[in-house]
Amino acid sequence: MNRSRANDERTGRRKSMLFCLECDDASPIDGNWLRCLRDEHVAYVCPGYGTTIVEQP
Ligand SMILES: [Zn+2]
Repeated sequence: MNRSRANDERTGRRKSMLFCLECDDASPIDGNWLRCLRDEHVAYVCPGYGTTIVEQP
């Protein structure tokens, strides 16, 4: 019996992806975004466009 490995990999890891509205870049939250400390929270910024993707407390 063969189990589909590709299917396992697709459902096995669920990382929340963030998307840039400017350049359609997509990366997980610990991916290639720039992390900028702003006061008490962290902003994730697109490295290409400088767009703020999301801010976290
Ligand atoms: Zn971008």
